[in-house]
Order: sequence, then structure tokens, then C-alpha cells
Amino acid sequence: MARRIGLLGGTFNPVHIAHLRAALEVVDFMGLDELRLVPSARPPHREAPQVSAEQRLAMVELAVADEPRLCVDDRELRRDKPSYSIDTLESLRGELAADDQLFLILGWDAFCGLPGWHRWQDLLLHAHILVLQRPDADSDAPQALRDLLAARSVSDPLTLKGPGGQISFIWQAPLAVSATQIRTLLGRGTSVRFLVPDAVLAYIHAHGLYRASN
Ligand code: ATP
Repeated sequence: MARRIGLLGGTFNPVHIAHLRAALEVVDFMGLDELRLVPSARPPHREAPQVSAEQRLAMVELAVADEPRLCVDDRELRRDKPSYSIDTLESLRGELAADDQLFLILGWDAFCGLPGWHRWQDLLLHAHILVLQRPDADSDAPQALRDLLAARSVSDPLTLKGPGGQISFIWQAPLAVSATQIRTLLGRGTSVRFLVPDAVLAYIHAHGLYRASN
């Protein structure tokens, strides 16, 4: 049986409940077998002080440890340079059955930036794209994307067929939580309890992450 696998990339600096809720809602709505969170490598100068890629990865692993349908794919961190999404998809495709379905999950903002991505038009060779559309999204898609949408979009994401090649939208009300907000709160010495899973909070404190003094 073909598997249905979702991919959610991000810096996860740190992972928080909005990432996890969004991921789980997509799993449930789409009936995915699994959803992989894919932490991205970042140029060293863009890492928050004292927070390494390994620590971002460790926090995502802790966050999903008790949820069998969510898992972590660390392939972008195992490479020695920041990888393009197309590299990730090609590498993953090499490990899957030809008829397994891949769903690349992008927020609306990320989707609008797609024409700037390396070999962006090849992404659909390997995966469907699921755009998380928020009720308050206001920007219009750029022209290159409007052409792509006209050719490739389907209105009901549950009708996406085959291993990849189409685009659809999932409406989701996002939780008003961001990693930026969490870093700011921690930098001020304020609690982020209930914004991140308890295990992630314990890790942050045990390792003294995101403190202003770092
Ligand atoms: P930062 O504040 O550092 O920019 P972030 O909280 O936006 O970080 P990312 O690691 O950039 O987190 O996000 C990873 C993925 O999760 C992206 O696809 C992003 O659109 C999505 N995401 C982030 N925050 C939310 C949210 N509140 N609701 C739904 N999806 C989210």
C-alpha cells in the first residue's frame, strides 16, 4: 500500500506548540501515515547564540517522542552545507516506494516565496504541495505562481492523486505562537511554559538556552 508522508521544514528554534498542532491537524485531516519535521541547517552566523543545530534537533525529537505519527527527519543537518528543499526531496524519494505519496507542507508566506527557491519547479516532480492557508492571509500570489496554480491546483486536498505533482490548500487557524516570541520571552527571563512541550522546556532550562546572558 502506498504510504502518505507529510514533510514540514523549519528552523524550529525552538519547536513550539503551534508547529506541533499544525502538523497534527494536517495528519488527521489528510489521513497521513506520518509527518516528518525536517529541521533545516542554518549558516552558523544565523544560529541563536549558544543554540546549535544539534540542540534544535534534540528539542524536536523530545517534542514528538510520544506522538507516533510525528517524527523527525535530520537529513538536512547531516549534510555539511545548508540544503535546498529539492535536494531533500530527491534524497527522500530515493528511499521510498515509487507510489508513496509525499506532501510538502508550506505556510502561505513560504509558498509565495517559492519562485526564489532553487529548482522550485522540480519540487512537484517528487511531492504534492499542501499550502497552509490562514484565514487572515492578505497577500496575492506572484504571477509565476498564479500560472502554476492554474495548471496544478486542486480544490479538495483529499483528492490529490499519485506520488506528487499537484497543489492544494488547507485552511487552518494558526495559533498565535512563534519561535521569535519564545526566544524573546526567554531572553527576558519570562516563562514559556505551555508554549512548548514540557520536555522541550526542561531541555531549554537544563542547557541554559536562549538566555540573554549567553
Ligand atoms: P521564527 O519566529 O524564528 O521565524 P517560526 O515560529 O515561524 O520561527 P519556523 O521554524 O520558521 O518557526 O516554522 C516552521 C514551519 O512551521 C513553517 O512552515 C511555518 O510556516 C510553520 N509555523 C510557524 N509558526 C506557526 C504557527 N503559529 N501556526 C502554524 N504554522 C506555523
